Formats: sequence, structure tokens, C-alpha cells
Amino acid sequence: MEKNKGKIFVFSAPSGAGKTTILNKLKAAVPNLVYSISATTRKPRPGEIDGKHYFFMSVEEFKRKIDQKAFAEWAVVHENYYGTPRSFIDSTVEQGSHIIMDIDVFGKKQFDKLYPEAIGILIVPPSMEELERRLRGRKSNDDQDIRVRLKNATTEIEFASTQGKYEYTIINDDLSRAVDDVIKLVTSEINKTV
Ligand code: ADP
Ligand code: 5GP
Repeated sequence: MEKNKGKIFVFSAPSGAGKTTILNKLKAAVPNLVYSISATTRKPRPGEIDGKHYFFMSVEEFKRKIDQKAFAEWAVVHENYYGTPRSFIDSTVEQGSHIIMDIDVFGKKQFDKLYPEAIGILIVPPSMEELERRLRGRKSNDDQDIRVRLKNATTEIEFASTQGKYEYTIINDDLSRAVDDVIKLVTSEINKTV
């Protein structure tokens, strides 16, 4: 009998909404999920490891990979390039393993053309004021960068709700409730029979 393909879960959120926090808890609770490691031209933050959090590369190398059609999608987010390596997605789902991905709303739109079966989950903050508090509290972005991220957040939420394909929207107000909701939906999608 042919093996069932793995499912693809694509998470998008404006920066600071809590996606990394939620995904870390999801990975701990549902251990057989495989995380798709993106390529990026942004500099590593303290503690980030090449090949684990991202494949960090130069703009030249990134552009070469675009020409080689190595990405399932790519986008410029907050002035840096980000892209999803295509071969990894294909081999992982072929093996029957489930993938979680973290891509911005514009990248997701491109991704849908190649992988229309992917399940979209949008994580939003309870308010813009709270988003700003979280970005400032994280202390990993300077003031100018925070302003760019806040401005982009409004555009991203608007784009996602009018042109995006997100099967689920999670409001990350209470963290443990949001994590529970995400774990439930992922588990239920995995257990759905075709
Ligand atoms: P993202 O990956 O979406 O950019 P993070 O996961 O880094 O966001 O979260 C941004 C900040 O907000 C972190 O300091 C995190 O601890 C905090 N945070 C995440 N979720 C919540 C929540 N529900 N309530 C309060 N703070 C939160
Ligand atoms: P950060 O620099 O905070 O890690 O990520 C910034 C943004 O880039 C987030 O919104 C994240 O979803 C997005 N991102 C990360 N990887 C990819 C990717 O492979 N493709 C696209 N389109 N966006 C990505």
C-alpha cells in the first residue's frame, strides 16, 4: 500500500506576535514534527546556530539559489531575504513526516501555488499596543527596527485577511490557551483520514 504523504503546516504572524514561543511549545508537545529550516541573509542573533535556526548566507549566494529555483518561495522581510529550500519539503512529505514552517504572509501566498494542500495558521496579537510591548520586551531589535516591524504588522494582517489562505487564526492573548489550540488543531489535522 502506498504510504500517506506528510502534512505541511505553515505558520505566519507579524513579528513579535509570539510565533517562535508557540512553535517551540508545539515542537515539545508533538515530537514527530519536522521543522523546515529557512535560508536568510540576515545576521544571526545571539544563540542562533547556522543549520539549526536558519541557513545564514550572503545576498550573492541567496540570489544564486533563486536562479537555480532552489526555493519553494522566497520574500524580502524587514529588509532581508528569506526563503524555503524546496528539496527538503518534498523529501520530508514523501517519507510521510509532517512539516512545520514559519514564513511570512507574502511568502505563504507564493507557497500556495506549489503546495495548495498546505494548512495555513495565522497567529495574531490581541492588539497593536500589546505587539509593541512584546517587541520592546524581547530586546532583540533596536527602535528603528521595531518601528519597521510595527508598520509591516498592519500591512501583513490586512494582506493575510483579504488575500491569504489561512484555515486557522489564533489570537495569542493567553499563551497557554493559544498553545493548546495550536496543539489540538495540528493533532486533529494529522489524525484526519483522507
Ligand atoms: P515572534 O516569533 O512571533 O516574533 P516571539 O515568540 O519571539 O515572537 O515573542 C515575542 C515576545 O513576546 C517574547 O518576549 C515572548 O516571550 C512574548 N510573548 C509571546 N507570547 C506571549 C503572550 N501570550 N503573552 C505575553 N507575552 C508573550
Ligand atoms: P526573524 O528575522 O524574526 O527570524 O523572521 C522575520 C520574518 O521572516 C518572520 O515573519 C518569519 O515568518 C519570516 N520568515 C522566516 N523564514 C522565512 C521563509 O523561509 N520564507 C519567508 N517568506 N518568510 C520567512
